Amino acid sequence: MFRMQKPLPSKFSEADNSELIDSIKKSKDILGEKLFILGHHYQRDEIIQFADAKGDSLALSKLAAKQAKAKYIVFCGVHFMAEAADILTLDDQIVILPDLNAGCSMADMADIDQISQCWQDLQAIVDIQNVVPITYINSAATLKAFVGQNGGSVCTSSNAKSVVKWALDKSPDSKIIFFPDQHLGRNTAFELGFDHSDMVLWDPQLDLGGNDKKELTEAKFILWKGHCSIHQRFSVANINEFRQQYSTGQVIVHPECSHEVVEKADLAGSTDFIIKTITAAPAGAIFGVGTEIHLVNRLANENTDKTVISLDPLICPCATMFRIDLKHLAWILELLVEGQVTNQIKVNEKTKAMAKLALDRMLEIV
Ligand code: SF4
Repeated sequence: MFRMQKPLPSKFSEADNSELIDSIKKSKDILGEKLFILGHHYQRDEIIQFADAKGDSLALSKLAAKQAKAKYIVFCGVHFMAEAADILTLDDQIVILPDLNAGCSMADMADIDQISQCWQDLQAIVDIQNVVPITYINSAATLKAFVGQNGGSVCTSSNAKSVVKWALDKSPDSKIIFFPDQHLGRNTAFELGFDHSDMVLWDPQLDLGGNDKKELTEAKFILWKGHCSIHQRFSVANINEFRQQYSTGQVIVHPECSHEVVEKADLAGSTDFIIKTITAAPAGAIFGVGTEIHLVNRLANENTDKTVISLDPLICPCATMFRIDLKHLAWILELLVEGQVTNQIKVNEKTKAMAKLALDRMLEIV
């Protein structure tokens, strides 16, 4: 999805870090309780130091909604997170994304036109009343609205199993279309006892997603061909290398990793699960972690009595999260001090209502 962030004034683009840090501190002091900064776990430390709360996208959005005095919610994360925050926060709260180019490559792998086309194709082949659409929270608000409108639900990596089970329990003939992350969908289906023969992959670039009518009629799960470019990088070879080096170490990965990696790991779970597991482990524990590198490094720094390393020594940070930096944060805050709101993320009312329905459905399930 193309979004255009205008270039920063040279005052910010050419400033050094100490000037930017001073500016952010000053703006935060002036704005006081009117400002609440959210920092996603995958953000770099120089941003996290200014966050009033850190967490995953849903937890942060729910927290922001409770900060009734905060007029400005600055979301140091990516676009779909800021949209979710706008959906869940109060009407008079303004959600701001410091860099509009901070998208999510996975969320951008499914757009509403492609999903609508897929739905229309399925309608001609199967009883659409039995198809339950589930979207991972890492998706545009329009997709959340689509599932809200069509009897489905949003899910997160923490509750995907419960949400998929809820969808399966709707009817013995339930069929699930899961987007945009094929891996979370596949890993969740396996967790519930299904295997590859129950699933097909839907490639939006191909007719009928690359399937024939029989395959679509028989499949229990239609998995959208999307992935996270960061988590998909972790491989079985990474796990083997880690185990050769640390025979007593444990491998813990995020379910956005491929099924082969999740199957081979000792533990798999959401960001929250990874943080809690490592934090609760005894001194001396060794972990090879398959998730975003800023979080892995932070966990290593916060757990100096344990060994916490990335499974992939060459892993890059999430490039889109990385777009949020001191320059953009300082710029956006100085504008707020001057009374100017820029980079506001606003979901239109109709989309918001339907997306909220899908989010509320998820919160009722779990
Ligand atoms: S880590 Fe992956 S899923 Fe998360 S924001 Fe980055 S690209 Fe998207």
